[in-house]
Amino acid sequence: MDHVKSLKCLICGREYSPNEIEYVCPHHGDEGIVDVQYDYDLIAGRISPATLAENRDYTIWRYRPLLPIEPDSPVPPLSVGWTPLYRTDRLAAGLGLKNLWVKDDGRQPTASFKDRASAIAVVKGRERKAEVITTASTGNAGAALAGLCASVGQRNVIFAPQTAPPAKIAQLLVFGSTVMLVRGTYDDAFELCLQAAKEFGWYNRNTGYNPYMTEGKKTATLEICEQMDWDPPDRIFVSVGDGCVIGGLHKGLKDMLALGWIKRMPKLMGVQAAGSAALYEAWRTGIDAMAMKPIDAQTIADSISAGLPADRIKGLAAVRETGGAYVKVTDEEILAAIPVLARLTGVFAEPAAAAAYAGLCKAVAEGQIDPQERIVLMITGSGLKDIASARKSAGEPYVVDANLSAVKQIAAGW
Ligand SMILES: *Cc1c(COP(=O)(O)O)cnc(C)c1O
Ligand SMILES: [Zn+2]
Repeated sequence: MDHVKSLKCLICGREYSPNEIEYVCPHHGDEGIVDVQYDYDLIAGRISPATLAENRDYTIWRYRPLLPIEPDSPVPPLSVGWTPLYRTDRLAAGLGLKNLWVKDDGRQPTASFKDRASAIAVVKGRERKAEVITTASTGNAGAALAGLCASVGQRNVIFAPQTAPPAKIAQLLVFGSTVMLVRGTYDDAFELCLQAAKEFGWYNRNTGYNPYMTEGKKTATLEICEQMDWDPPDRIFVSVGDGCVIGGLHKGLKDMLALGWIKRMPKLMGVQAAGSAALYEAWRTGIDAMAMKPIDAQTIADSISAGLPADRIKGLAAVRETGGAYVKVTDEEILAAIPVLARLTGVFAEPAAAAAYAGLCKAVAEGQIDPQERIVLMITGSGLKDIASARKSAGEPYVVDANLSAVKQIAAGW
């Protein structure tokens, strides 16, 4: 990894070589999240928009010179990344906007954005020859780790709250993970996973703890800018729980600015559920990430439920440093967003993913958006992850006897 200069602590600024520390800066308990620092001069000689234009590898590994892995490390075979970016004129028109795109990460192999990070976790875990890779998860990070581990035969242990949606738990079990459903919240599962990893020497993928997850997640903005011919959008809306996804989007943009691939920084718009809005409140009141206190998180959007967001330093910086904003939306607004997004784009989102669209609606209603702006909605997970929530918002079907007269009767009423 000659292209990685150091791991820099975001609290005290100390820098470490990647061989010196595995996860966090040792001066702040488990909270000293570090950021990977790159040698951009070296990287510029290995990858550029011109080499990418010739590259037929349409996965996250097309950006390999910008990822923190060894040059000879094998990567998992599942096809992660290069998800579609759809121009969505009907969705745009409904909001009085001119330029709106949807990036559909429900199309990832395990149906969420988390595959981008878990793919890196599997590579790093295998570089370390880890017997077991572990993570705590509200569901998607675990499902992603489970699927990517299954693709290479890697043992793994997943900690998730017992309340995770059944589809996500089914994914874990089908992929053959050892599944620990924790009687408690995601924050409880996170803490237990940290303890277990330390006790048994497992490689730990935890969000806001393992610094390499941000690097996997940044591939989404690398893709968005490449898909837009290096003319970046003005704003990107994404839902936020722990803050790792939005921090990753920010990191990709900073990489591209440093390399001169893009000329300006899009504004990052973090959308939180009203019942799990710790970062929204910290942003609104202007407090420092390290001064945040845990809240009792409650939302139907399980993937963005986090009492004390694990990646709060990066999550706040992403919005503050880009001149974006945090927006909060109610569970009712999130549920209502699912069928609207689906009917106007053909993209079926889980509640946490539809929250990004609910946040865009709110920002438009509040007059935060110029209609000419070029906006990308990051859709982070598939609606099939949580059909119980989807059914609450989508109306009821007709149930008919198996004869045409029943259909005629209904059609007459249209
Ligand atoms: C994890 C997740 C998010 C939010 O990511 P954080 O890093 O926790 O902020 C949003 N949507 C979906 C579907 C997710 O799985
Ligand atoms: Zn430190």
